[in-house]
This record gives sequence, structure tokens and C-alpha cells, in this order.
Amino acid sequence: MVTGKCDRCESKAAIELLYGPHKFCKDHFTHFFEKRVKRTCRTNGLVGKGEKLLVAVSGGKDSCVALYLMHKIFGKSNELEALLIDEEIEGYRDAALNFAEENCKAWGIPFTRISFKDEFGFTMVDVMKKTGAKKRIGGTCSFCGVLRRKIMNQYAKKLGANKLVTGHNLDDETQSTLMNVCEADIQRLVRLGPITRMKKGKGFVPRIKPLWDSPEIEIIAFAHYKGVKHYEEQCCPFKWQAKRNTYRSVLNHLESQFPGTMYSILSFLKQAKPKLAGKSAKVKLNACKECGEPTSGKECAACKLIKKITDAK
Ligand code: AMP
Ligand code: ZN
Ligand code: ZN
Repeated sequence: MVTGKCDRCESKAAIELLYGPHKFCKDHFTHFFEKRVKRTCRTNGLVGKGEKLLVAVSGGKDSCVALYLMHKIFGKSNELEALLIDEEIEGYRDAALNFAEENCKAWGIPFTRISFKDEFGFTMVDVMKKTGAKKRIGGTCSFCGVLRRKIMNQYAKKLGANKLVTGHNLDDETQSTLMNVCEADIQRLVRLGPITRMKKGKGFVPRIKPLWDSPEIEIIAFAHYKGVKHYEEQCCPFKWQAKRNTYRSVLNHLESQFPGTMYSILSFLKQAKPKLAGKSAKVKLNACKECGEPTSGKECAACKLIKKITDAK
């Protein structure tokens, strides 16, 4: 229960952000939130003049808020489209994507819905059955991510998009940072940040994360105050397997004991990246022999996985 007044006006405070600490009424909170996203886009050069943006929307709170704000901030100056990927996890993604579709229609944003079945000939439920991923921690989530990223990059290129927007938030980013530190993976660590840019001509559309410094609980509050409709179910039915869940609970505990920890980790990442970037081994990229997508080996992870699933039929 929040007590006291808003920091900016005489109204009763509706939300308290312990890391500030800040107390805001509903209007001053949404203003504060939007201003931070605008500043993040500006200071990191996320969106260039006239660039075409493709927003990957899953129907969850993060990507629906990302779509809402990209439309609000850049809708007049930039071309905007949405990409909805249906992994066909029954009763979960279809319900979530309906929210994504509704939002696109309500805000007049063109969208495309692509399904795993149409694209690859199998669903995530098939992947679970064929690979025995159930037994391996993190198994299904990484498979799903590999295939989804392939569709995102291919479609972004097809559309001629300059940037691919995702809804990754502060919690996601700090979990990934800690995970890479714990696994001593400097190469992955230096790839984190609000923009993932590969060398030009390597076949990657740069991915941007306008919400990378927005805490998850604030995204939930923002969606609620602004009436941004989204799928509320927190977890994909397979998500319990992800290693990330352990990092999530450790970080949530740290944040509750020491408010501001997540922002400190982000600050660590910003300071460490330029120092480490030159020192980590450079990855040489080739075109995948099957699909032509960029990969460090001969065949991309998605094609290897597709073969594995198809051969298991
Ligand atoms: P996740 O890895 O599930 O945390 O998702 C990270 C981001 O990837 C989301 O915020 C979306 O922008 C995008 N994304 C995840 N799943 C989908 C999907 N099925 N369709 C479109 N975009 C997605
Ligand atoms: Zn106020
Ligand atoms: Zn491939």
C-alpha cells in the first residue's frame, strides 16, 4: 500500500519506486515511464530518421507496451509493422497472439502472423515430443528461441526493416548479464545492450530493446494505467524448465533487499562492455549452407534443429 503524495504534484501517490525512491500519481508515473523510453531511444541511437521498424509482438505485456510506445513515439515519423509468431503451444500462444492482433487493429498497425507449422512443418509441442527436451533444463526454451529468431531475422529482411524491436526489459537484461557472468561467457555478455548490431552486410537486421532499462513491474503498471491489453498469464507452459527462472528469483530477492541492484547491474554492463568488447574473440560469420542465414559455423542452429526434428519423425 502506497502512502503519501506524488513527488511532482499534490495528488495521492499511486506507485512507489523504491530504487529512486520516487512516488508518483498515475499520470506522473506514465509520463516518467514514457520519458525514460524516449531518452533510451535517443541516447542509444535506437531509431534513425525514416527507418522502418518491425516490432516482434508475442501478446505479453512487454511487447504490447513496446508496440504501444513505438507507435506513439515513432508512428508519425517512421513506418511501423508488427510480427506475430505462433509457435503453436496450444491454449497459450494462440490466446496471447489474439491480444497482439487486437492491439494492432485498434492502433492501425499492419501485422503478419507466421506459424511454426507453416514455416517449419512442426509445432513446439512436436519439438517437445521428438527431442525429449522435457528432461533437459532450458531445453525447450532455447529451441523455441532459436527458431523464433530465425523467423524474425528472415522476415525483417523480407520486409526491408531497418530495425527489429523486441520487448526485452530490465529484468531480462540483468538476468542475462548475471547468467553470462556466472558462465564466464564474455562473448555473449558483450552482445547484450539496447542494440545488437552486427557488421553491415552480414545478414543480420539490428535488434533494438527500447524497454531494456524499464523494470518489469513498471511495465505491468504502465500497461494497466494506459489500458494496454495483453495476455496476463505469466508463463509459457514449458517455461518452468528454463535456467533463467533461478536467476530471476535470485535477482528479485536481491532487488527486494537492496533496491536499485538491477540498475547497478545495468551500469556494470555499460561500463564493462567497451572494456571487454575488444578482448573477446571475434566470431567470423558465414552464410548457412541450408538457408543462407548468418552463422558462425557451416550450418545455423535453427537448420540443425529442424533436421533433428524432421529426422525423428
Ligand atoms: P521472451 O524471450 O519470451 O522473453 O521474448 C522476448 C521478446 O521477443 C518479446 O518481448 C517479443 O518482442 C519477442 N517475442 C517472443 N515471443 C514472440 C512471438 N511468439 N512472436 C513475436 N515476438 C515474440
Ligand atoms: Zn502527480
Ligand atoms: Zn540455416
